Amino acid sequence: MSKVLIIGAGGVSQVVVHKCAQIPEVFKDIVLASRNEEKCKKIASQLNRPITTAQVDAENVPQLVALIKKHKPDMLINVALPYQDLTIMDACLETGINYLDTANYEPKDEAKFCYKWQWDYIDKFKEKGIMALLGSGFDPGVTNVYTAYALKHHFDEIHELDIIDCNAGSHGQPFATNFNPEINIREVSARGKYYVNGEWKETDPLSVNKIYDFPEGIGPMKIYLMYHEELESLVKHIPTIKRARFWMTFSDNYLNHLKVLENVGMTRIDPVIYNGQEIIPLQFLKALLPDPASLGPLTKGRTCIGCLIKGIKERKEVEYFVYNICDHEAAYKEVQSQAISYTTGVPAMIGAKMMLTGKWKGNGVFNMEQFDPDPFMDDLNKYGLPWKEIFITT
Ligand code: NDP
Repeated sequence: MSKVLIIGAGGVSQVVVHKCAQIPEVFKDIVLASRNEEKCKKIASQLNRPITTAQVDAENVPQLVALIKKHKPDMLINVALPYQDLTIMDACLETGINYLDTANYEPKDEAKFCYKWQWDYIDKFKEKGIMALLGSGFDPGVTNVYTAYALKHHFDEIHELDIIDCNAGSHGQPFATNFNPEINIREVSARGKYYVNGEWKETDPLSVNKIYDFPEGIGPMKIYLMYHEELESLVKHIPTIKRARFWMTFSDNYLNHLKVLENVGMTRIDPVIYNGQEIIPLQFLKALLPDPASLGPLTKGRTCIGCLIKGIKERKEVEYFVYNICDHEAAYKEVQSQAISYTTGVPAMIGAKMMLTGKWKGNGVFNMEQFDPDPFMDDLNKYGLPWKEIFITT
C-alpha cells in the first residue's frame, strides 16, 4: 500500500486519478498537484474517496522538492506537459523517489522528440538507486508493451513494425484537438520520420498516406506517416527491426483547418510582438481552441490503436496485429473523459502499479519494452483496455 504524487490536472490526469482511486489496495494515498489547484479540487470532487490537493509550478525544482518532502510519496506520476519532464526528474533525483511519465521531454522553443535528454539521466538514477519509467501512455506505452509481448510469445525476430493509431470518433466541433492543443499541433505539423535498415528517413509533414482497413466494423481509413517517440526506443532495444513506422488517422476537416492555421502563421512557436507584447502564436491559438476536457461529453465513436508486426518464428514468416478498441462514450461514462485521455491515463496507472508492486523494478531510466510485458498485458484486460490479436494469413 503506497502513496503516489500525481503532477498535472488536465485530461490525462483526470483518468489517472480516477483509475488510481479505484484501486485503494495499491494506491492508498493520492496527492494531486498542479499549477492551478482549483483544477485538482475539481477532479477530487468527482471521486468517492478523499485525496489531497496542492499547488506547484513543475518548472521550479525547489517547489517540487518541498512538495515531495512534505508528502513523502513512494513515487511520482508526471502527467503535466513534456516541457516539465526534466525539472520533475531533477526533483525526484534530489529526493530519491521513483518517476513515471507519458511523453518524452521537449524543449519549448523547438518541436523535437528525442529520448537523449532523459536517457542522459540513466547513470544519475542508477547511482541514486531509483527508477524512471518513460512513456507509460498508449503510444508511447502500450504500443511498446504490445511489441515486447509479440516478441516474447509470437516471434523469434521482429523485422517490420507499423504502429497505427486511429481515432474513428467525432466531437462535432469545427476544429479541436483531443489532447493538449499545443503539444498535439507541434507533433502533427512536424516532419515525418521512419526507420529503415539502420537509417532514419525524413518526409514532408503528412505527405505519405495510405488506406488501412481497421477491424471490428471501423473499416478503411486514410492513415498518415508521422514521427513518434517510441520508434526511437523500440529500434534501440529490439535491434532486429529493419523497418519501423508510425501512422495516424486525421479527418480531411482537421487537416484543412490545420493547413490554414499553418499558412497564416498561427502554429508558429517563435515569439512575435503584438501590441508591444511578446506572444507565441501557437500558445495564443491554444487559448482560443476548445479545452480537450470539454470534448468528453460530446465525443462519440471509437479509437483503435495497434501494432502490425512482421517477422519470423521457427523460420516461418508471421504477420500479426495486436490492438485495442476504446469507446469514447463508455470512457466518459466511467471517468468523465473521452477515449484519448482514457487510453493514456489507464496505462499510466498500470505502469505505476507495476512499479509500486515491484513487478517492474530496476535502477536507472527505462522504456516500457525493457520489462516483462505479461503482467502489464493482464492488467490492460483487467482495467479497461482489453486487447485482441489477429494472425494474418495471405
Ligand atoms: P493538459 O494540457 O490537459 O494537462 C496538462 C496539465 O499540466 C494541466 O493541468 C496543466 O495546468 C499542468 N501544467 C502545465 N504546466 C505546468 C507547470 N509548469 N506546473 C504544474 N502543472 C503544469 O494535457 P493532457 O492531459 O492532454 O496531457 C498530459 C500529458 O500526457 C502530456 O505530456 C501529453 O503529451 C501526454 N500524452 C501522452 C499520450 C500517450 O499516449 N503517451 C497521449 C496523450 C497525451 P493548467 O491546467 O494550469 O494548464
